[in-house]
Amino acid sequence: MAEILVATEEAIQKAANLLRNGKLVAFPTETVYGLGACALNSQAVARIFEVKERPFFDPLIVHVADLAMVREVCDFSDPRALRLAERFWPGPLTLVLPKKPLVPDIVTAGLPTVAVRMPAHPVALQLIQKAQVPVAAPSANRFGRLSPTLAVHVARQIGDRIELILDGGKCPVGVESTILELTNGPVLLRPGGIPLEEIEKVIGRVEKASFSGIPRSPGQLPFHYAPSVPLRITSQETPPPPGLRVGLLAFSSVQYPERFAHVEILSPSGDLKEAAANLFACLHRLEEKVDLIFAEPVPEVGLGRAIMDRLRKAEAKF
Ligand code: AMP
Ligand code: MG
Repeated sequence: MAEILVATEEAIQKAANLLRNGKLVAFPTETVYGLGACALNSQAVARIFEVKERPFFDPLIVHVADLAMVREVCDFSDPRALRLAERFWPGPLTLVLPKKPLVPDIVTAGLPTVAVRMPAHPVALQLIQKAQVPVAAPSANRFGRLSPTLAVHVARQIGDRIELILDGGKCPVGVESTILELTNGPVLLRPGGIPLEEIEKVIGRVEKASFSGIPRSPGQLPFHYAPSVPLRITSQETPPPPGLRVGLLAFSSVQYPERFAHVEILSPSGDLKEAAANLFACLHRLEEKVDLIFAEPVPEVGLGRAIMDRLRKAEAKF
């Protein structure tokens, strides 16, 4: 079972040493907990796919601590990339850019491009700085399942398969990064922690990727981010079917609490940022307590886009 260590400087150094020795470490980022390996070590990266049971066609995001590291892994000469980095890094924006040969094919699933981002969480940044290597890291959960926003979520899903989990408390953003392809774009591959509207203010209109069968990003798989029980997106007016323990994921208030076996509220004040931060933790609690989840839709603006994207993919699983 993985050791869970509060992310002190000493613990971060220990994690950095493990990364440098080709081992895996789970660590907090501002989006969700990541499962990291040295991005330049193919065997270590292969272990990520094994631990997550993730298909090899699904490429990973490379996490960096500074622009020098960005330039080691990709061609960063596109002026739009620099403008976006100045505005949003460190932060939950991933850019897809032409890769440099140093990055092993297993990281990019053989694609000529690589996804990079500079995380805003101090623990993630310190870990990468101390390891002195770019860190490939998907979310620290089994493939297709709910993303972890607390160290215990990681421990429950993959704790028996890794050595160390750095505990940095709750992830403040709570949904994955926004993924933007710049090489053939700009195209939004996955809505996430930076709202599309903010990105368009910096680089103008962004196309939204349509799903074409071959995912350019797992954010584009038709189902993903799923709890272990079925989820339906529906208004609170819909009466739950009898004979099942039905849970409600409400946006800001609950109309008929007596109808549900368990209720979670994303944001009592109706704030989409708070709702995103609470999304996965609410779903983790619901999947443990009920047989079916009713999820109320949220307004599809700002972070609401990322929330609705995750709910639709969870619904599509069943
Ligand atoms: P996750 O690990 O679930 O946070 O997802 C990482 C995301 O980055 C996935 O949606 C990947 O498909 C996406 N990604 C990584 N590399 C590339 C790439 N070269 N082109 C497009 N998307 C990528
Ligand atoms: Mg994931």
